[in-house]
Amino acid sequence: MGEAVKSIVIVGGGTAGWMTAAALSHRLAGMGLSITLIESTEIGTVGVGEATVPHIRHFNATLGINEVDFMRATRATFKLGIEFRNWARLGDSYIHPFGAFGEEIAGVPFHHHWVQGVKSGEAAPIEAYSLPVVLARANRFARPSADPASLLSTYSYAYQFDAGLYAAYLRAFAEARGVRRVEGKIVDVIQQKETGFVESVVLADGTPLSADLFVDCSGFRGLLIEQTLKSGYEDWSHWLPCDRAVAIPCASKGSLAPYTRATATDAGWMWRIPLQHRTGNGHVYCSAYQSDESAHATLVNQLDHPPTVAPKFLRFQTGKRRKQWSRNVVALGLAAGFLEPLESTSIHLIQLGIGRLLDFFPDKSFDPFRTGEYNRLMDLEYERVRDFLVLHYHATERDDSPFWNYVRTMQIPDSLAEKIDIFRARGIVVNYRDGMFLDASWLAVYLGQRVLPAFSDPRIMTLRASDRAKRLSKLASNIAFAANSLPMQTEFLAQIGANVS
Ligand SMILES: Cc1cc2nc3c(=O)[nH]c(=O)nc-3n(C[C@H](O)[C@H](O)[C@H](O)COP(=O)(O)OP(=O)(O)OC[C@H]3O[C@@H](n4cnc5c(N)ncnc54)[C@H](O)[C@@H]3O)c2cc1C
Repeated sequence: MGEAVKSIVIVGGGTAGWMTAAALSHRLAGMGLSITLIESTEIGTVGVGEATVPHIRHFNATLGINEVDFMRATRATFKLGIEFRNWARLGDSYIHPFGAFGEEIAGVPFHHHWVQGVKSGEAAPIEAYSLPVVLARANRFARPSADPASLLSTYSYAYQFDAGLYAAYLRAFAEARGVRRVEGKIVDVIQQKETGFVESVVLADGTPLSADLFVDCSGFRGLLIEQTLKSGYEDWSHWLPCDRAVAIPCASKGSLAPYTRATATDAGWMWRIPLQHRTGNGHVYCSAYQSDESAHATLVNQLDHPPTVAPKFLRFQTGKRRKQWSRNVVALGLAAGFLEPLESTSIHLIQLGIGRLLDFFPDKSFDPFRTGEYNRLMDLEYERVRDFLVLHYHATERDDSPFWNYVRTMQIPDSLAEKIDIFRARGIVVNYRDGMFLDASWLAVYLGQRVLPAFSDPRIMTLRASDRAKRLSKLASNIAFAANSLPMQTEFLAQIGANVS
């Protein structure tokens, strides 16, 4: 074993920086590490990133964070999935839930029976067989049951929170565990001559800060990973061509929805994220097909309330760094890459990166096996999220704008094309060993995007049509009954003491 890493500098105090500081200070406590985080108020943070996936609960739980305390502090709401409007056809709506549709019948995945049921007119729309979807549509929520035999255990949940408040919450957590915060703008980076390793960063007032390991959480600019180490960027914008966003929060309206909404527009899509104290809104669009002014006007037209703050315009390029860990620098968050927020995956990719950094935590020799394995696994995760996102755009019937004509007819990654072909032909969801989205998620988006299998599993014929019809009908009524037994999300937030309004 080489000499131990003794000091870490985290560059950046956005969500990525403070998640990293919180996790490393907690998980590596006792190793005698000094952890410093540098952030610049003058530069600020990206200031968006409010919707998450269920894995975030594991991140918080590992830190020992109390859910109610966290929800009060970040004005969070619960999230059961994402509603997609106008994606396959104008007027369509489906929900990608955090939970499965139905249950296996006679050893065959539920959707095969459902497809057969649709053909013979015995099945309700697929939504009726998913408790989280029925709950979401009714704005109802309670935590899932721990009893695996209960229908109320068939879903998971995530959060929608104020990103600035989450970073502040984690900052307090990390500072209480010894992380030193330095305010200042880095203007220079010093590298070791022979190895190119980063030795220190220099602030505008001339102060140098050195470390053994640097975590680059500096946002899109990638101050260390790109500007210094020239890691290179793999551009995926030919598959995910949206490259702009405009964000405008507004006051909230009506019953709190326990889900995020993604409404497709002429050249992108708009998000709507209900928090306790406001609604987050944004429009992600492709500058080749829509101007900033027109994208802004489209967004403003559908706000629940007039905007109270100025719009924030953002530019990005979808893709990832060729090496997210290079020499003694690991990039996390926007510095590592960016996949647009359609499935709320960025914060999860930060979480994954932190987990892998802990798994492969280096000594001062920076063993190439560890860095290589880290990069290989992170590449896989990014590629799989990319494929999942491309599916939403490509599997569409929309031909009402040049943007939809482009994404519908574009060449897609081979890895995705194969997956879609197999599902279309046989109804089989090809499984990955790695990758955050499991069968249920792929299935939700296939069906929602109107990708239906031509043939079902032949074993469905072991069940008589009348028995199938009974099973489907019983399941739908049990789900409707279970959903009605749960409170509205607003009531539930109040019941657990998480609602601060
Ligand atoms: C339009 C849009 C919508 C999004 N929505 C979601 C979502 O719903 N869910 C989700 O999971 N993710 C979402 N994301 C992604 C999410 O916002 C980011 O993953 C998350 O905020 C992490 O950002 P960051 O910390 O990497 O970068 P930033 O927030 O940009 O932070 C960078 C930090 O580096 C500091 N810094 C930079 N340069 C210097 C310097 N020279 N000296 C000192 N400090 C410096 C800055 O001051 C700042 O503190 C979205 C992103 C965009 C663009």
